[in-house]
Amino acid sequence: MKRLKKTAALLLSMVLLLSGINIGRTEVQAAGGNHTSGKLVIKLSGANKVKILSGKKNIAKKTIRMEKGSKVYFSTAKDKKVKSVTYRSMNKKYVTVSKKGKVTAKKTGTAKVNITVKKKKGKAVSTWVKIKVVKAEDRSHAFDLKKGTVRLNNGKQMPVLGIGTFTLSNKEAENSVYWALRDGYRLIDTARIYGNETGVGRGIQRAIDEGIVKRKDIFVTTKMWTDDYDNGTSAINGSLKRLGLDYIDLMILHHSQPENDVKAYRAMEKAVKQGKLKSIGLSNYYTPKDFDRLVNAVTVVPALLQNETHPYHQSSKMKEHLKQYGTVMESWFPLGGRGNTQKLFNDKTIKKIAKAHNKTSAQVILRWHLQAGNIAIPGSSNEDHIKENFEIFDFELTKDEMKQMGNLDKDERFADY
Ligand code: NAD
Repeated sequence: MKRLKKTAALLLSMVLLLSGINIGRTEVQAAGGNHTSGKLVIKLSGANKVKILSGKKNIAKKTIRMEKGSKVYFSTAKDKKVKSVTYRSMNKKYVTVSKKGKVTAKKTGTAKVNITVKKKKGKAVSTWVKIKVVKAEDRSHAFDLKKGTVRLNNGKQMPVLGIGTFTLSNKEAENSVYWALRDGYRLIDTARIYGNETGVGRGIQRAIDEGIVKRKDIFVTTKMWTDDYDNGTSAINGSLKRLGLDYIDLMILHHSQPENDVKAYRAMEKAVKQGKLKSIGLSNYYTPKDFDRLVNAVTVVPALLQNETHPYHQSSKMKEHLKQYGTVMESWFPLGGRGNTQKLFNDKTIKKIAKAHNKTSAQVILRWHLQAGNIAIPGSSNEDHIKENFEIFDFELTKDEMKQMGNLDKDERFADY
């Protein structure tokens, strides 16, 4: 029996060794981080050996598996004998490493990173880690339409249907948010530039005061406007104050702005560490190239991208690109936006499907968003519409209907911003 156990243990350790080490899948649940991101600690051991610790395990000379787009960070354990550590990537095409030890997995393939530890006394010692960059896991299955939530790439849960507040006054926003929370919504979308964060905050407070919701049960999104990108920290503090909240569930940059959006994003990363923001993301990045420009310059992978998305502009290419990062698409103008809704509501296919389910066109479109893996935030100041838009969890579009909806894509945007 003992021998059998020993053989089984040996076999298991061989399997683990052969399969390599998958960094931090459970270890890192920090905001915005990809699931294969993790922290590694460099330590000197004995006279001439370097230990690389992942948790308590020494993984020097073992293979680390990283998903494309993910990052791991090396840091040095407090050790009086160490003077400095330098990192060098042997295959920059697949993996890059910064001076401070941030490793980014760029392309699927195998690479080595050399680590040299200079000691205060005696010779420098050197070791390497082998890194295998693998294709990222498709996390689109993270949508749970029974619970009405999606698991973001940082492990947090986000409601998949929310209330939008674009063009609403403070008073209208207060009412819409209050009605929405009363009707079961748990996601709210606003922005500094809408000028209604104060009203949104009041609507939330009203619902909390009446015992309809607790703060922890709702998910509040706001956006940093482009004029504020050079002063990100004060923009974040301003939104917190106007909303009357001590943390924001998700803050996103309102638009791509290559001059200074990286600076603004870094201010949000700092606010995540301080607990002011729980998740961070982007809005209005329309090409994979532009999205990657930002992602490659920052540490936290965006949890979400909010772009114009509806049946006539389904954002398929962008969604395909986002898969490698586990970044989820959120649709603004989910119903086509003010002034365009009738084009979608009167679309023959949508009308036919609506009739079959005894639902309205708006409900069919919103249901399609969720089944297609988009978070939707329809905007309204009309109490009845708000209620109607939430009644989409009691029916399901068939595979064939989803296909028919998919065929409506014309790659046609209604807005020009
Ligand atoms: P939308 O597609 O949600 O359409 C809103 C229009 O539809 C309004 O005129 C509303 O009265 C009408 N409507 C809503 N429900 C209806 C129903 N059941 N029946 C009939 N009409 C109905 O457009 P939106 O509000 O502009 O976009 C949704 C949200 O996305 C906004 O409120 C805002 O929070 C966000 N947004 C973000 C950006 C961005 O740049 N990131 C841009 C625009 C909007």
